[in-house]
Parts: sequence; C-alpha cells; structure tokens
Amino acid sequence: MNYQNIGSEKESVSLSQAIFKGLADDGTLYMPQSIPRLNSHFFEDMPQMALHDMAFEVLKPFVGDEVEDAALRRMVEQTFSFPIPLHAVQEKVWALELFHGPTHAFKDVGARFLSRLMSFLRPQSADKLVVLTATSGDTGGAVANGFHKVPGIEVVVLFPRGKISPYQQHQITSPGENIHAIAVEGSFDDCQRMVKQAFNDAALREKVTVTSANSINIGRLLPQMVYYFQGVAAVQRVSPGRAPVICVPSGNFGNLTAAVMAHRMGLPVKRFIAATNANDVVPRFLSTGIYTPLSTIVTIANAMDVGDPSNFSRLYALLNNNTEQLREILSAGSVSDDTIGLTIQEVYKKTGYLLDPHSAAACALLKQSLGNDEQGFFVATAHPRKFAEVIEGLLPEVSRSINEQNGPNFVNKKSIKTMSGSYNLLKDYLLKL
Ligand SMILES: *Cc1c(COP(=O)(O)O)cnc(C)c1O
Repeated sequence: MNYQNIGSEKESVSLSQAIFKGLADDGTLYMPQSIPRLNSHFFEDMPQMALHDMAFEVLKPFVGDEVEDAALRRMVEQTFSFPIPLHAVQEKVWALELFHGPTHAFKDVGARFLSRLMSFLRPQSADKLVVLTATSGDTGGAVANGFHKVPGIEVVVLFPRGKISPYQQHQITSPGENIHAIAVEGSFDDCQRMVKQAFNDAALREKVTVTSANSINIGRLLPQMVYYFQGVAAVQRVSPGRAPVICVPSGNFGNLTAAVMAHRMGLPVKRFIAATNANDVVPRFLSTGIYTPLSTIVTIANAMDVGDPSNFSRLYALLNNNTEQLREILSAGSVSDDTIGLTIQEVYKKTGYLLDPHSAAACALLKQSLGNDEQGFFVATAHPRKFAEVIEGLLPEVSRSINEQNGPNFVNKKSIKTMSGSYNLLKDYLLKL
C-alpha cells in the first residue's frame, strides 16, 4: 500500500516514509492511496471473530509487504492487550469502552501500535529519532506510555500549561528517561503550531530526525479502525439486524476519520454523528458549508478543545471533498458543558453507569438524535476516573470512591519544564537534545 498527500496526488510514498515523515512535503496529511473493501467471508465471520484476528485482517492491506505477517500479528497482540467491551446503557444504546488500556483513554490504541510500527520499520543504522507531539491532554500520556524506554527514540511532548488535568499531567511528566515533557504557555493550538513549524523547518530537519506521534500520523489512525469492527460485531451478536448508528466524541477528528475509513472497507454502519463540545467548527461547517477555524474554547471535555481540527481535511478527502457526500453519512452537534454535566448526572442516577465528560457529550447527542427504528453506540473515549475533578462537582456521592481508585494525589514534585509559545525556543531545545 502506498500513501499520498491529500493536497495532490503527485507524492506517493511507502508506509515507512509516511510514518516517519508524518506530514507530506507540502504540509498536508498522508492518506492510504486506496481503501480496500474486505470480502464477504470476512463479514460473515466477523460477529464470531477474535479481536486479534479481526485486527490482523483489517490492518494487513494497509501495511502490505513492509511488515510480514508474523510481525503484524505480534504488533496487534501487543497493541490490543486489553478488552474493548460493549456496555448497554439503555435500550438500543451502547457504550463501546475504549478506555481499558494503560492510560485509560482510546489514544492508547494508536500510540501502542505506532510505537511498535516505528520500532519495527526504523532502519538499524538510523540516527536518534525524535518523536515530537502536541497534546490537548490524552495523547501525551498515551504516547509517553507507548514509547517509554523504546530504544533509539526520544519523545518530546508539548502540552498547554494549566489546561490539562493533574492526572493527565502526571502521566506525561512521570515516565522521564526518553520522555521529555514541556508545559507551553498557551493553548493546544499553540502547541500544535509549534510542532508544525518544526516539521516545516528544513534547517532543523537536516540536523535532527523528527517525526510525529500526533493523530496527524497515519500510523495512529490505522489501528483505530479496528475497534469499530469490534463494536459493530458486538452489536450484531446482541441485537442483529439493524446496522448501528455510531457517535464519536471529536476534537481533532482522527477517531471519526478512522471510523469512516472502516465504513469504506465495508463495515455496515447506518450513519455517523460527530459530537463536539463548544468548539463547534465542524457542526458549523455541516450547516453552513463554510469552514472557519476558531480560537480554542476551554471546556470540561478538554481533550476535545480544538479550534481547527487537523484531521478534518482527511475526513473531507475520504468523501471526495464533497460537502453533500459528507452530509449523507455524517451529522454533527455541539454539546455544552451544562448538557455534558446533566448527562453525567442523569445516566448515573438512572443506571449507575459513570461517564467521563467526552463520552457524555457523545451519549447525549446519540440519545437525542436516534430515531425509533434505529440503534447505536457511542465510543467511550476515557475512563471517568481521569476526570475526577469534574465528577466531584457533579456527583459528590461517587467522587470519594473514584478518588480512592485514583490513588495518591498527584503532587508533581519534579519541576516541569515550561516554555513560551515561541518556536525558536523549541528549536533550540530540539537541537540540544
Ligand atoms: C483525544 C480525545 C478525543 C478526541 O479524539 P479526536 O480523534 O481528536 O477527535 C475524545 N475524547 C478523549 C477522551 C480524547 O482523549
């Protein structure tokens, strides 16, 4: 399988090049040159298939002959080393729980696969590789965990200072060794801009081999397709017949892009819903047809605080850059902090099921938009324990038990490196690493 930039079809590269370059020469993102459809045998077997077999079949066409079968099998076993259960929230509404990995968020899937793919594809003679990542919260922890102690790879994580939870900050700053955390005085978009500047800086790249582990890296997106197959298979087992509606809580729109790629491989899904928080660029786009990046608004679902989602161009390209085609399979809605809070309270009081703020946004929108003849699931992207502070304000009666599970307070004893949003400081840092 070759990969090409979405801006033009001129540049066509191998998986390895797409993984290590992160961004194409013109600054756009890579996409697989084609999305193959899986055959009918696969879909007949799918409801009974084991997760690792499913992952192998889904990913095989995308790695082609660059990764041999035995290595791909090992990678999927190491990536999907935790369960991905479907939990019934109410009649015809399920949560697909993606948060049982080591950092309790769905980003573990992409980070674990990408680190193993990079370590496998990295030429033995290569110079030290620097993985440079901006995070709005969860990416950093997943990347830090997924790459910790991987030989020959240094990881630099930029996060917006004071805008992520203590738990997230702990996950990013505690590994140490080859994991370098930097608190940026600014927003997630500032962090992302600095990372993009580094990638576009030819002088820097002559001296340092930098690559990305953000959701702009296609190597993170590919394994995320797998759990949509797993979710649809689980619905087929418990409630066969109707293809489910899938609602995805979205920030940078990587997770939804993976879902739509799975659909293009033939996965039976009725339609998709994107749930955003107050950062509503995509819902506005779907209603007006005009894409206007906005500055980031801080919400209680902070991993989705993104004002200019970088994967949206990929999603749009999958639908031939045609707004009508996009509207046929996707609707979107913006969910306020108030509605997120009410949903967490209501679902807990009615069913005993605790949602994190991101999953709650998707749950609210799915329930609101599901027709009488429809059924569906939302993806639960983080464990509620990661957002104990939010839950504490909403459900004081459960906060104590979450805090106990949460372990000791995360008083960060180590001093954390901070940096202004200036690219030149980052550049100096990378040159000295
Ligand atoms: C990153 C994240 C999202 C948003 O995912 P995208 O792929 O960026 O759209 C949603 N929920 C949680 C918990 C996240 O960490």
